Amino acid sequence: MLVMALILGACGKQAGSSSAANESSQGSPSAGTVKKYTFGTDATYPPFEFEKDGKYVGIDIDLIHAIAEIEGFEVEIKPMDFKAIIPAITAGQLDGAIAGISITDERKKVVGFSDPYYEAGLSLIVRDDNDAIKGPEDLKGKVIATKKGTASAKKSEELAKQYGAKITYFDDSPAMYQEVVNKNADVTIEDYPVISYKIAVDPNSHLKIVGDRLTGDSYGIAVGKKDEELLQKINDGLKKLKENGKYDEIVKTYTGG
Ligand code: GLN
Repeated sequence: MLVMALILGACGKQAGSSSAANESSQGSPSAGTVKKYTFGTDATYPPFEFEKDGKYVGIDIDLIHAIAEIEGFEVEIKPMDFKAIIPAITAGQLDGAIAGISITDERKKVVGFSDPYYEAGLSLIVRDDNDAIKGPEDLKGKVIATKKGTASAKKSEELAKQYGAKITYFDDSPAMYQEVVNKNADVTIEDYPVISYKIAVDPNSHLKIVGDRLTGDSYGIAVGKKDEELLQKINDGLKKLKENGKYDEIVKTYTGG
């Protein structure tokens, strides 16, 4: 048993290792083993997750690594389309996910959520030369680009119904922004910290935010519904990082404030 534990521990760093799954099915971990958890993340969602010089970085990525470090577990990051993330947790293919995931009552039925770690919500976005759309009330007959499986998709469906707009769905945020820039869609709906960052760092984004924020929500780290142990570690880690200043440091690294 001890030899097995040592071997599993030694394998912990290999990509694709399923040590966390093996260990958790064996009950409490043996001394000396470090649990490894697999976390899904969005593929392209700066400043929360994005690829830079062949590495995954961003607020979410640094945060989950810092939590893992302070709580003594290992993390493997799996970037994927946002729509696949929650189904992968419920199917047991991921231990959890950090992907700018808004905490909603609907999602709470199928996954567990950490304490909220970031304030977000939705904004309406148009091409920067579009002065015709100033808010949702101008959406009649217009096309909304949105991302599958997101809070944006839900809001788009609601507004499409209310104001008589059409919707086109995409797998990632850059594709939906492009649709607006190319004038194939009139508007898109995106989390305001994400679109504000995009507009701030990309002078050629050709996008602007219009009207008031559509909704407010908070991001949480998602875990398997019954994984109380992992959830506890995440909440403890988050709390420590907020107290010791590391959380603020991470946010500042990417947003400058
Ligand atoms: N916060 C939004 C949601 O949870 C969008 C997340 C994302 O696109 N990564 O639906």
